Amino acid sequence: MSSDGDRLATPSRPHLPMRPLWLCRRCGHPWPCGAAKVALLAEYRDNVVSLCLYLASCLHDAIDDLHQLRPNDTGSTAGVFDRFLGWPARHNRSYRLATTASLDEEESS
Ligand SMILES: [Zn+2]
Repeated sequence: MSSDGDRLATPSRPHLPMRPLWLCRRCGHPWPCGAAKVALLAEYRDNVVSLCLYLASCLHDAIDDLHQLRPNDTGSTAGVFDRFLGWPARHNRSYRLATTASLDEEESS
């Protein structure tokens, strides 16, 4: 196993990314798979900012890896961004409330 995965190698999070394909080592779905998302949300439930920072670093690595695998495929960056960073915003109630509140403030000013 590479050093990249050591931090993730805990019994509570067996659905780890397989680089450079960024597929789940356990279930083969694009990482983060459903089980990985559930585990990440549980682990970072009190610190969504850290979760987003972690996923942002994964996104950065994934873009590099996937670009090297498919240098001619330039149309999927938005999809990769949503895959890594879109779902926590949709799943986290406090983040959603904060975002909605800030949007309301922008609209009323
Ligand atoms: Zn999985």
